[in-house]
Amino acid sequence: MKTGGIEEKRALSKLYELTAIEISEKIRNQEISTEEYLYSILERIGQVEKKVHAFVTVVDEKALEKAREIDRKVRKGEKLGCLAGVAVAVKDNICTRNIRTTCSSRMLENFVPPYDATVIERLKAADAIILGKTNMDEFAMGTTTETSYFGTTHNPWDLRKVPGGSSGGSAAAVISEEATVALGSDTGGSIRCPASYCSNVGLKPTYGLVSRYGLISYANSLEQIGPLTRTVRDCALLLSVISGHDDRDSTSVNLAQKDYLSFLQDDIKKLKIGLPKEFFEEGVEEDAKGPVFEAADKFEDLGASCHEVSLPMMSYALAAYYIIAMSEASSNLARYDGLRYGYREENDEGDFDTVFSRNRRIGFGAEVRRRIILGTYALSAGYFEQYYMKALKIRTLIRRDFERVFKNVDVIIGPTMPVLPFDIGERIDDPLKLYMCDILTVPANLTGYPAISVPCGFRNGLPVGLQIIGKPFEEGTLLRVAYTFERNTDYHKYRPSL
Ligand code: GLN
Repeated sequence: MKTGGIEEKRALSKLYELTAIEISEKIRNQEISTEEYLYSILERIGQVEKKVHAFVTVVDEKALEKAREIDRKVRKGEKLGCLAGVAVAVKDNICTRNIRTTCSSRMLENFVPPYDATVIERLKAADAIILGKTNMDEFAMGTTTETSYFGTTHNPWDLRKVPGGSSGGSAAAVISEEATVALGSDTGGSIRCPASYCSNVGLKPTYGLVSRYGLISYANSLEQIGPLTRTVRDCALLLSVISGHDDRDSTSVNLAQKDYLSFLQDDIKKLKIGLPKEFFEEGVEEDAKGPVFEAADKFEDLGASCHEVSLPMMSYALAAYYIIAMSEASSNLARYDGLRYGYREENDEGDFDTVFSRNRRIGFGAEVRRRIILGTYALSAGYFEQYYMKALKIRTLIRRDFERVFKNVDVIIGPTMPVLPFDIGERIDDPLKLYMCDILTVPANLTGYPAISVPCGFRNGLPVGLQIIGKPFEEGTLLRVAYTFERNTDYHKYRPSL
């Protein structure tokens, strides 16, 4: 198999290379038609998808129909939404009306939702085009996209490597220019990890900012839907569209809708940046740290100040995260029994327990089954206090660490991932080794704080991500810092050669 490599951005742009902001502007000004742009995207998919395998489903016919509808609107001079014509790839755990939504699981292989998630309704209202559904770890449980029932996605920078996960298909699709932007979900790092491994901008919003209605739950107290894009501007635009209050999600906060593009100034003077020493300790590779220290120097050159801070409870974060995530998963996934929902074996002989167990044994993959079993154990009488309650207490202590540190700094930075992208197959048989990869991303989910990953360098041809964590509901600051970094560096301009 041919491996990827770095290729600097070509001078002459093809339509599939353009950003969401550029595309919608060109469509609005009638410089291009939506249809010709979409053909360019579909052609690109035809060229590279065989190598990357980012999608579970591409809805080319539906997308073309929508493109023509937008072109008709343009010709009639009708008002267009801010994502006019932009092709969006959607992680396959976000419900799309009349488009199969599988969670990359055999359990939901043939599930076609009769309704749209709130974020999908909002994309459609902004005149975006749903291009297809992207590959992911089964039920979002994983860090590499290898647990997908539909086969693994390959890292476009080196096809032998994992793209990160669980939103690996979304990140790979965007950086290989098969889609202009994408949506992912992040329960313990699933947007930021693939963003780091594929060189995207990936944002996990503050818990409660984006509606989870229509997101198929893995661990609902931790997760948020968010954008995966090639630029910070596109990230801000997409967030402006998908965020905001929704009655159908009881955890959605009632804040006024914001235009996040208005925060994008190239200015971080006087900004206080914390570097938690726990983000740079044992287990974090030199190659992951180096580019982050270079980024810290850059921020100081641009007028910010960097300070060492400490989050002592972080050493318990991973254990607390996995207990809480698996406990919630065991309860959320109880509904898939093949009777009310999900895969059903043809042979349905036996009593309820036999049928239920058989359907779940065949319908779920090994990692999902492992987590259901561990989660059920942690919630069972006698162990509930010892595991689940203790994990909740640790969660509170971690949040207190965050609150204390954020009294003195505006944002904290560190690597997104402790190790660079590794070979497909290298860690999949060692779950603990895989769970360790999430050590730097789970704190933002346990606390609910917003966090973004932006490209900050390459080592041996593989991308490195810089993680920036901000105060709750201060996505504006987060985006301004990310934007300033992007404006003063070139890492976002590189593309893998496929
Ligand atoms: N890798 C983490 C897990 O497996 C996070 C997954 C996610 O954010 N959905 O739980």
